[in-house]
Amino acid sequence: MFVDTHCHLDSDDFDNDRKDVIARAKGAGVQQIVAIGIDVPSSKQAIALAEENGEIFATVGIHPHNAKVLTFEDIQELLSLGGKPQVVAYGEIGLDFFRNHQPQSVQVACMEEQLNLAHQLGLPVVIHNRQAHKEILQILRKNEVWRIGGAMHCFSGDWSFAKKCLDLGLYLSIAGPVTFNKSQILQELAQNCPLERLLIETDSPFLAPVPKRGKRNEPAFLVYTAEKIASLRKLSVADIARQTSSNARRLFKLPTPDESSAAIRVNHKEHKGNLRF
Ligand SMILES: [Zn+2]
Ligand SMILES: [Zn+2]
Repeated sequence: MFVDTHCHLDSDDFDNDRKDVIARAKGAGVQQIVAIGIDVPSSKQAIALAEENGEIFATVGIHPHNAKVLTFEDIQELLSLGGKPQVVAYGEIGLDFFRNHQPQSVQVACMEEQLNLAHQLGLPVVIHNRQAHKEILQILRKNEVWRIGGAMHCFSGDWSFAKKCLDLGLYLSIAGPVTFNKSQILQELAQNCPLERLLIETDSPFLAPVPKRGKRNEPAFLVYTAEKIASLRKLSVADIARQTSSNARRLFKLPTPDESSAAIRVNHKEHKGNLRF
């Protein structure tokens, strides 16, 4: 079984067939999906999807593309959403110095503020990083990310950057681009990353892996990324599935899929409560 650790399931691209997309994921062995928030409305939608589907879990946060100066009300709302039992991580947060949709200083402040919220909530973080390696490492170090844990989602960077992320206790999450011919650096990374720190994700609807490249991505396509990593590491797909799923369950405190979802949600909430102190 697989866990898709990063999917924008609330995206408009899924409005016409979201139920089918979820069913196809199950059919392909993707038994759990983490639906990612990028602002307050999408975080609410991710939570709603998680409330409707026992195999879906949510994150809450403001993406660097939407970074802003958080008001007292924003913070109260994010803390309240982050406390919901379906929420397994804080994010996605981070820096995007490639697109620069928001001023870099605003992105930095918004990321730091939200790392603080994640600490308060006792949640691991899902981190988005594009062309901000140096700055993101500084912020993560300064804010002691190892105390809450987290994942570098859709990892991009070389092995020397990866090692610094691993030193901070982070997991590296590999997405569809590992299947592209030109992605040699990412392929090397997928080979070298310690197996117990490796996660896989689709980042759907974006970045569909080969052979679906160019099409809308969906959680069922996670299998192609797993197959590529398995072949790079000369392991079976079942090995990659088992190890990456167990990593995802450890980081996000996901239940094993056969547990009853009601029992888990109570436990998860209690656990988070304890972590606050
Ligand atoms: Zn991202
Ligand atoms: Zn994302």
